[in-house]
Amino acid sequence: MGSTDKAVITGFICRLCSKMNRFVIHIFGEEGARMKLAEKINAYLPITISANDPLPKTVCLTCIERLEAHHELMEQFTWARQRIAEAKAAEELKKTNASQGNSCDNSMPGCSSQQRSVQHD
Ligand SMILES: [Zn+2]
Repeated sequence: MGSTDKAVITGFICRLCSKMNRFVIHIFGEEGARMKLAEKINAYLPITISANDPLPKTVCLTCIERLEAHHELMEQFTWARQRIAEAKAAEELKKTNASQGNSCDNSMPGCSSQQRSVQHD
């Protein structure tokens, strides 16, 4: 087994994992551009890819899956950070306007000023 491995190399080398793959996406191809592969790779990975560097411009599907998962995670973190910042700001506002009660921001869904009333001086 394995004797044919060297004989014929079919496929493309993946820029991210360096493995040979029959199915790859060209980073700067139509599909790759639609998926914003170059942007994501340059943003999240410790490598920089540009259309005119001498290295492979193909990425295997496994790596794309990982990249997409990472992208979703990062989006979630960004979203969470914003929500936390908003909540923190609302909390600060509530503290400052403790006497005025209605510090609830309409832009926050499900937020109700009656939801929680902290009563202590
Ligand atoms: Zn790969």
